[in-house]
Amino acid sequence: METFLKQYTVAELCDGFVYNELEEKGLYGLSGRLTIQPEYQRNYLYAEDNGKKEVAVIDSVLKQYPLGLLYFNKLQDGRLEVLDGQQRITSLGRFLTDKFSVMSNELPYRFHALPKDLQTVIENTPLLVYECEGTESEIKQWFQTINIAGIPLNEQEELNAVYSGPFVTKAREVFSNSRNANVQKWSAYVRGSVKRQDFLNTALDWVSHGQVEEYMQSHRRDANIDELKFHFENVIAWVESIFSDYYSEMCGLKWGQLYDEFHEHPYNQKEMTRKAAELMDDPCVKNRKGVFEYLLGGEQDTRLLDVRVFDEATKRRVYKRQTEEARRRGVSNCPLCAMGHEARRTKLWGEKEMDADHVEAWSHGGSTSEDNCQLLCLTHNRAKGNR
Ligand SMILES: [Zn+2]
Repeated sequence: METFLKQYTVAELCDGFVYNELEEKGLYGLSGRLTIQPEYQRNYLYAEDNGKKEVAVIDSVLKQYPLGLLYFNKLQDGRLEVLDGQQRITSLGRFLTDKFSVMSNELPYRFHALPKDLQTVIENTPLLVYECEGTESEIKQWFQTINIAGIPLNEQEELNAVYSGPFVTKAREVFSNSRNANVQKWSAYVRGSVKRQDFLNTALDWVSHGQVEEYMQSHRRDANIDELKFHFENVIAWVESIFSDYYSEMCGLKWGQLYDEFHEHPYNQKEMTRKAAELMDDPCVKNRKGVFEYLLGGEQDTRLLDVRVFDEATKRRVYKRQTEEARRRGVSNCPLCAMGHEARRTKLWGEKEMDADHVEAWSHGGSTSEDNCQLLCLTHNRAKGNR
């Protein structure tokens, strides 16, 4: 791979700049010779957060702070693509085409409303660019390692760059497009940002059973994303077919894994929905996110719910009561030891040697209240094992 250091002014770079509102990206610069956002690049993010970042780019130029290096990829036909710097160039292009304002002397100014001398300062600001010529894989590998200024690429953005091709392009149209009407619905179950590729990452994770990179690699040349799309929609439809009420705790759960594990079990929607409502309402359930997996798994694993345990004051009162009673009757203060035949039958355990237990198991409807609390020696408590 060869690199050449070049210098362009802001005006040269932004000549012919077009911002596509629909796709939220900057398109061309250098009189059409530069593609600002090749398909493997991210959406434009600097306009988020009230444009704080894009305003900062212009402020830096006005103060003549360096904007950092830009990296272009030189194609065989002589055209250029931005490898790194598209957020900065798009900010400059958007400002020069009056898409946002900056503050000067406490007043907001669009570019063409700025005093002429300030306009000239901006237009003549030089920017340093590394232009690179090499094979596609060389350049992509390098792109993975530069990852310099601005918002660092996350894992999925990197994968999109490395495996760019018809599959990623198609998949992004569906899963990275904030204008897709389905995104609203999906965001009930998927956490994160469409633009930062979290929805695409989730869809890939579900369809590939966690093997995202392998999946992208093997489908790289496909122009068809049906499997990805249908599997994703199928998982969500499956969740909705089991739990007809929605809870915000359902957002971001590992639904793909739960689908893989449980989708062949039959469930009664009415029952499941009712049980979910009960558990979501149960003050003993500390981990409400665990309710759905607990129910799908047949209500076996109470650890998923992190059931509230008895507090120290309750334990102490029950210990005292239980020990006094045991002493009076000459038996062990652990009711299970007291029923045994060994030496432990009459053993009085210290407070630290015992732990609280639900007399009637919580999973069978027993409450976490003092009248359902008993202390057992640690051995028996562990052996009983339910909470
Ligand atoms: Zn015992």
